Amino acid sequence: MSSELFSARTADHYVSTMTQGIDVLARRLAAVDTPTSGRTPAEVEPLVRGVDLDAPLLDVGSALEELERVYLDDAVWFHDPGYAAHLNCPVVVPALLAELFVSSVNSSLDTWDQSGGATFVERHLVDWTAERLGLGPDADGVFTSGGTQSNLQALLMARGQTFLTGDVDPGETFAAALSRFRIFASDESHFSVRKSATLLGLGQGAVTTVPTDERRRLDPEALDVSLGNARAQGLVPMAVVATAGTTDFGVVDPLREIADVCRRHGVWLHVDGAYGGGLITSLRYRHLLDGIEHADSVTVDYHKTFFQPVSASAVLVRHADTLRHVTYHADYLNPRAANLPNQVDKSLQTTRRFDALKLWLTLRVMGADQVGEHLDATLDLARAAHAMLDADPELEVAAEPVLSTLVLRYRPQGVSEALADDVNPRIRTALARSGRFMVAGTVADGRRWLKLTLLNPETTSADVARILDAVRDKGRELLDDLHAYEEAGR
Ligand SMILES: *Cc1c(COP(=O)(O)O)cnc(C)c1O
Repeated sequence: MSSELFSARTADHYVSTMTQGIDVLARRLAAVDTPTSGRTPAEVEPLVRGVDLDAPLLDVGSALEELERVYLDDAVWFHDPGYAAHLNCPVVVPALLAELFVSSVNSSLDTWDQSGGATFVERHLVDWTAERLGLGPDADGVFTSGGTQSNLQALLMARGQTFLTGDVDPGETFAAALSRFRIFASDESHFSVRKSATLLGLGQGAVTTVPTDERRRLDPEALDVSLGNARAQGLVPMAVVATAGTTDFGVVDPLREIADVCRRHGVWLHVDGAYGGGLITSLRYRHLLDGIEHADSVTVDYHKTFFQPVSASAVLVRHADTLRHVTYHADYLNPRAANLPNQVDKSLQTTRRFDALKLWLTLRVMGADQVGEHLDATLDLARAAHAMLDADPELEVAAEPVLSTLVLRYRPQGVSEALADDVNPRIRTALARSGRFMVAGTVADGRRWLKLTLLNPETTSADVARILDAVRDKGRELLDDLHAYEEAGR
């Protein structure tokens, strides 16, 4: 019987199969010249749904041909300079090489007896990250599937600590105490904070919005007042979430000042560095993270600013023992008496990918400095793009970049706010439909804006200029259409 199992018997088959896949990808890579096809969901769905999953092709070549039609033709390519939408990065080759090992060996990072050396590769990288963050000698952490999970776990640990150290009445039920717990975050914080509050049994109302300053940074003085007010009302501050790189504006909250306030109030400080965390490798912008070393927990997304494939993230903690709030023992897996380095004791997940290996090979092949140079290039590019926007009479830019995002809109003189709100989302849709440029959209101060997220170190100012040209051209075209339509209606 022929076998598709990865085993000694299939070693030759493995090599030829993987080589076919690499050939397909390499051909694609050479051919891709737009970030996507621009096809709509209605156009793509039938291509996929038309495949009869009960009629196997029994041949890799045919399956790969089909894969090109159902997936690659309409995939979104983050390495194309026309892509500037969400927080997706092009990936580095050493990390892709690691993926081969991650999936083929298929280690599972829950217990030592399923992962062997992998456990210490992950631990070494956790320590490396914590050290660069400056979290101190007692720090620890664990890899997660992404910033959402990292934030959830951090807040779970904050909840556990608050039960121990907060103003919880020993006679109070768990539910009654929880109903008094509050999380403090700015409006600019990631929505996973609110989702976590719900998952942790606090409810969405448990997130108190702290005002921001004119640069959209969480205001430490307002935080101080908010925390004081909460206590006065008999509420229990459970955590403050500061953001190091907000998703829209890339803003870094004043971490040192916020840490001071948290220390005075005895509240857990979580820093969501899903976006900005990559700055620990930066050669020229590392100072933007100053103060992060005072956090009780930190989220870092390697799959955003370390140029790693999805998924790769970590949650780091100042005190290793706070991870015990996710420790549960199962007789079959990690019995209390095991005395083995079982990563499941620190994680929300059980079976878990060896994502750490991607960062490992990246650091071993390229080194952290080269990762940092890549990231710095994107911050430089954002500054260059801001200068272009600032000088452009038809385009408006909302703020100077801090990391590598720009919030902008098409709004030439004489165009009302309402008309700009109407036109800008249409510009975004039209560009995506063309397949040539992808930008994001957002709402800021109640108005509709476009957003460029620049995470490609190879994108040049000329590439950004082309995107801006396309925005302007499409904006003019839409306004002309609108005028013609109004004329016709008169
Ligand atoms: C992207 C992001 C998240 C969510 O991370 P995922 O990896 O997408 O789950 C959380 N916080 C911030 C600030 C982010 O930018």
